[in-house]
Amino acid sequence: MFDVDAIRAQFPILGREVNGKPLVYLDNGASAQKPRVVIDAMTRMYESEYANVHRGLHYLSNVATDHYEGVRGKIARFLNAGSEDDIILNSGTTEGINMVSYGWAAPRMEAGDEIVLSIMEHHANIVPWHFLRERQGVVLKWVDTAADGSLDPQAVIDAIGPKTKLVAVTQMSNVLGTLVDVKAICAGAHAKGVPVLVDGSQAAVHLPVDVQDIGCDFYAITGHKLYGPSGSGAIFVHPDRMREMRPFLGGGDMIREVGRDAVTYNDAPMKFEAGTPGIVQTVGLGVALDWMMDVGMDNIAAHEAGLRDYAQDRLHGLNWLQVQGNAPGKGAIFSFTLDGPAHAHDISTVLDKKGVAVRAGAHCAMPLMDHLGLTATCRASFGVYNTTAEVDALVDALELCHELFA
Ligand code: PLP
Repeated sequence: MFDVDAIRAQFPILGREVNGKPLVYLDNGASAQKPRVVIDAMTRMYESEYANVHRGLHYLSNVATDHYEGVRGKIARFLNAGSEDDIILNSGTTEGINMVSYGWAAPRMEAGDEIVLSIMEHHANIVPWHFLRERQGVVLKWVDTAADGSLDPQAVIDAIGPKTKLVAVTQMSNVLGTLVDVKAICAGAHAKGVPVLVDGSQAAVHLPVDVQDIGCDFYAITGHKLYGPSGSGAIFVHPDRMREMRPFLGGGDMIREVGRDAVTYNDAPMKFEAGTPGIVQTVGLGVALDWMMDVGMDNIAAHEAGLRDYAQDRLHGLNWLQVQGNAPGKGAIFSFTLDGPAHAHDISTVLDKKGVAVRAGAHCAMPLMDHLGLTATCRASFGVYNTTAEVDALVDALELCHELFA
């Protein structure tokens, strides 16, 4: 039985006030708050179980390695990957996508080859491909969203031509909340022999994910949005792509032998994990994923669907406010602008005075902003611990903005 009050009680920060008002935290799209179990597990590890991993033969190193390596299996279960060997641990989505760009895409692309992207990608799923455009003459092909913010999977598949080497799409827009039918895109792209990278940074927080059912080649997640610490994350890589990929970072841990004139590499996935990793961060992510799986991804999705519907009704009732994106498949993320001269930053400052934390700006999605004809929006993004009363608090604070700025 999902009990939002019991969930909230597990997040210490939700008890605090901001500007003399109870905190209403609606910036989950940027980063989520952490439950007590994650904070405690990380503290415990630093206090009594910390050492470097994989290297030592002493007790603490073995304990730390067991904790750290145990997370690979948790992530595999969370994403329903076929094996924990399909999971590369990293610091988050940005690192994961850069690794694919440098390690898999760069060696197999030449001038004129194409990468198909949706217009609503986050910069983390754009800039690593721009590197290939700048350095190798790769062409970026953009697929626009429809007027309601939805992305037609067939339009993505139709954009794939004989020179296309990769499709890279988000499963959920961090700006519009639009959900993308990545399973259909994978089926269509694979029929044309083209692999698909899915940016799961937002979707994996809100929905059950099954990478085998989706059929993707790469699926990137980032720990700090999953109620875990920043500096943690992972990417699922299909074994066929894993075999094709070259290491991106070189250093300790990813090698088997290093000589003056030669080097041999560790087996995958370790081959792609150079240097001392975010040990405690990764352990914290494992605890966060256990916590989410205990709450139940279906329960989380159902709770947030209720919040989405409630927020949609309330925000659409404000005739001086424009919600961007109203796709039939949409998560609990709302970007909006207000009539009048107020910039998104002004609005978020007023909301902050009422204790309501939202994000304002271009949300690391400038091509989408350009497509929408905007430079900035305010974004309220909901998580597992938010309530309908917090939607009401947001609307009350927005009404104040309307009075102030109209
Ligand atoms: N992709 C999407 C859709 C995001 O929302 C974000 C974070 O805002 C990222 C990628 C980048 O994640 P990180 O900064 O954790 O690497």
